[in-house]
Amino acid sequence: MIIKPRIRGFVCITAHPQGCEAKVRQEIKVALAAKKDGGPKKVLVIGSSTGYGLSTRIASAFSHDADTLGIFFERPSQKGKPASAGWYNSVAFENAAHEAGLYAKSINGDAFSDEIKAQTIKTIKADLGQIDLVVYSLASPRRTDPKTGESYRSVLKPIGESFTNRTLDTDKNEVNEVTIEAAEGDDVAHTVKVMGGEDWELWMRALDEAGVLAPGAKSVAYSYIGPKLTWPVYTNGTIGQAKKDVERAAAAITTKHACAAYVAVNKAVVTQASSAIPVVPLYISILFKIMKAKGTHEDCIEQMVRLLNERLYGDDLQLDAAGRIRVDDWEMAPEVQQAVADIWPAITSDTLYAQSDYAGYQSNFLNLFGFGLPGVDYEEDVEVEIDLPSHG
Ligand code: NAD
Repeated sequence: MIIKPRIRGFVCITAHPQGCEAKVRQEIKVALAAKKDGGPKKVLVIGSSTGYGLSTRIASAFSHDADTLGIFFERPSQKGKPASAGWYNSVAFENAAHEAGLYAKSINGDAFSDEIKAQTIKTIKADLGQIDLVVYSLASPRRTDPKTGESYRSVLKPIGESFTNRTLDTDKNEVNEVTIEAAEGDDVAHTVKVMGGEDWELWMRALDEAGVLAPGAKSVAYSYIGPKLTWPVYTNGTIGQAKKDVERAAAAITTKHACAAYVAVNKAVVTQASSAIPVVPLYISILFKIMKAKGTHEDCIEQMVRLLNERLYGDDLQLDAAGRIRVDDWEMAPEVQQAVADIWPAITSDTLYAQSDYAGYQSNFLNLFGFGLPGVDYEEDVEVEIDLPSHG
C-alpha cells in the first residue's frame, strides 16, 4: 500500500517501513563512526524499539559490536494496516545487526509482566549465558502490577497548584497558553507506580536470581531534568516524583545486586514520549535552534554514543552531586538556557518558525514514524506485513 502520515494530536497512527529503515540506518552510520573498544558485549535493552532505548541498542551493537536482546511493546501489521514505527525500527535493526554478524533478538510484549521477564531470562540462558549491560528505557502511560493484577495510569501534572504557561499546538502550529490542573487523589502514587523504579528493581532482581548478570555488570535507566520553566509540569510534577523513585531504585539495585546501577539524565529530544508533554515541544523547538547554532545539538543516537563511549565505558562517569550521569550537560549550559529564556516570553505564532526550530521539530516528529526521510519513495506501493527476522 501507499502509506501517508496520519497525525492525530501528538501521535502518528501510520508508519512507513522503508522510512523507519532509513532512519535506523542513519543512526547506525553515526554509531559506526564512533567505534570503540572496551564497551558492553551482551546487552539487554528494555524499551528498545524507539527513542533512547533504540539508540542505546544501536550504539551498543554498532559502536561496540555487542549482541543485543530487545524488549518492547509494539503493534505488528494487522488486517493490512501498517505496523507501529517501533516494530519496523526493530525489523530494520535486526536485519542490519544480522548482516553485521551480530546476535539480535527481540521479545514483543508487556515488560511489566512476569511472563516477559521469564521469557527474557530463558532467552538469555539459551543464547547469551550472561549479560553485562541492562538498559531500562520504558516510557509507558500505564502498568499492570504483576503481583496484584491492579492497573495504574501515569499522568503529567503539576503538584500543589495548577500551572499555566506557553505551549505549542502542533495541530494548528500556534503558540498559545495551556493550564494544567494540579494532581489529585492517587495521581502521584500511580505515576510513581508506572514510571518509577519498582519495575526496574523487579527486572534486576529476576535477572540476578537467575544468575544471568555477568560479574561487573552495569545497568542504566533514563531521566530528565530540563529548565526551570518546565519544572512545574516535569521535575516538580508527578513525573518528577517517579524519576526520584528511579534514583532511589538505582541505589537499591547497586546495594542488593552484583550490578552498578545508574540514572543517566538525558537531553530533551523529540520522541513519542516527549511530544505528549505540554509545554515541552515549544521548549524543544527553541532549544534546537540555539543548540544547532552553537554546534552542540544532539539527537538520541549522538547522546547514547556519548553516554556509552565517554561515560558508562569511558574514563570518568562525571557524576553530579546526586550521583547521576549527566549527558544533558550541553542542554543545561548556562548560555544555552539563557538564550532559551530570552526567546521564551517573546515567541508568538507569527515568529514561531523564525525564533525557534519548529521546522526541525516537525521534521524530527515525522522521522519518528518513518516519514520525510531522504531516499525513500513515498509514492511507492510497499509491503506492510513484515515479520521480525528473529521471530521467523
Ligand atoms: P519512547 O516512547 O520513544 O520509547 C518507549 C519504549 O518503551 C518503546 O520501545 C516502547 O515499545 C517501550 N514500552 C512502552 N511500554 C512498554 C511495555 N509495557 N512493555 C514493553 N515495552 C514498552 O520514549 P523515550 O522518550 O525514548 O523515553 C525512554 C526513557 O528516556 C524514559 O525514561 C524517558 O523519561 C527518558 N527520557 C526521555 C527524554 C526525551 O526528551 N524524550 C529525555 C530524557 C529522558
